[in-house]
Amino acid sequence: MKTCNSCGQYVSVDFARVFGTNNNQVFACLACSTMSEISEQGKAAGKERYSSV
Ligand SMILES: [Zn+2]
Repeated sequence: MKTCNSCGQYVSVDFARVFGTNNNQVFACLACSTMSEISEQGKAAGKERYSSV
């Protein structure tokens, strides 16, 4: 399991891979951010391809 660097909440490995940085570091999760904010972070990490599926 990974943890959110913002709030410490556990997140799934898949969540970290999709919404985290290239190093699968998560800085926004459902516990501390809204889904739209998390998606924006994913885009900022250059992973917009995931949100367009
Ligand atoms: Zn969090």
